[in-house]
Amino acid sequence: MEQLLRRTWAEIDLDALAHNYQTIARRVGEGTKVLGVVKADAYGHGALHVARTLEELGAGYLAVSSLDEARELRTAGISLPILILGHTPEQYVPQLLAYDITQAVTCEAKAVAYNEVARTCGQKLKIHIKVDTGMSRLGYLCAGSHFQTGVEGILHACSLPWLEAEGIFTHFAVSDEPDKPESVDFTRRQFDLFLRVIAALEERGQRFALRHCANSGAVVNFPREMALDMVRPGIILYGCGDGAAELGLRPVMALKTTVSTIKILDPGSAVSYGLLYRTAGRERVGVLPIGYADGLLRSLSNRCAFYTADGFAPLRGRICMDMCMVDLTGKEHVQVGSEVEIFGSHSSVDKLAAQAGTIPYELTCAVSKRVPRLFLRRGKVVGTELRMYL
Ligand SMILES: *Cc1c(COP(=O)(O)O)cnc(C)c1O
Repeated sequence: MEQLLRRTWAEIDLDALAHNYQTIARRVGEGTKVLGVVKADAYGHGALHVARTLEELGAGYLAVSSLDEARELRTAGISLPILILGHTPEQYVPQLLAYDITQAVTCEAKAVAYNEVARTCGQKLKIHIKVDTGMSRLGYLCAGSHFQTGVEGILHACSLPWLEAEGIFTHFAVSDEPDKPESVDFTRRQFDLFLRVIAALEERGQRFALRHCANSGAVVNFPREMALDMVRPGIILYGCGDGAAELGLRPVMALKTTVSTIKILDPGSAVSYGLLYRTAGRERVGVLPIGYADGLLRSLSNRCAFYTADGFAPLRGRICMDMCMVDLTGKEHVQVGSEVEIFGSHSSVDKLAAQAGTIPYELTCAVSKRVPRLFLRRGKVVGTELRMYL
């Protein structure tokens, strides 16, 4: 293999992933399975390596958002059960069956359509029923006056002969806001409603092997209370998001680049498109080969600083498509070729996300296909991936 270009790259620390997984598994206790959410290419970390690592660690399930994502894992030999959280058009049911994928069922119309196609295939489709307890996204509406029709709808889906109802789940809207009493209250009410729906179904003889609701927020804030049969952490597996640091979780991704050029600018020089930044004095400015096409959001222009061997270097001027500029004045240890951490263990992605006015999910997902992923174990590269050549 040709040597991978070390322009800008993402290091994926599989030991940190293992540490995070084990911490989460201990936190929720032995009777509870852990489903690893690996949708969106494992939040930009590389779904294959992440899924393989989770499989080795003993995870009980994986979740993705689409059939393509599920197929990618199966084709690569992942044998863990995989749940598709999002929509699959009914004409793809034969593929769900062929690849042994579990599908979320979110309403009556889909249950009926899936059942019909599964019948023509002569094979039962494994499903998890999704209950809408207040997020108002996907799932059987069960709040307030919808309770009885919701329960009846779910019972009907479960009675269809070509569907096998293995699980039931719901999703929380504000479980990651422990400091807001109204959010804690809302989450408790969602959980309560979920339990009441399950109880009503059980009364009618419908039981589920896997009842699950806890996303990262709930694993952090209501670990035992809301664990049930399985938890569904995403962001905290990757060592970021609210509460990750307090649990001692470690960031899995480090986004790194190198200094490509350094120049000494005269006082009053304008930097980058729009000439928005002007040097106060003589400034030693470095050009970094990372821009918004690599996933460095342009909204971070002039609003952040990156970690170098000589401390934090403030970003100067607008972020371009392929490059950005930083102030290296007084940082004599930083030379052309020196490494710069955009985010990682020295400077958290959570902090950078806050500076961009967004959440860490968006920053790790944004790391683009031209940024190679280097997978590390014990500090050694054990795999590389560059999506551009696929
Ligand atoms: C994305 C997702 C999760 C994981 O959410 P995190 O906040 O990353 O833990 C869990 N469940 C569902 C249904 C999701 O869509």
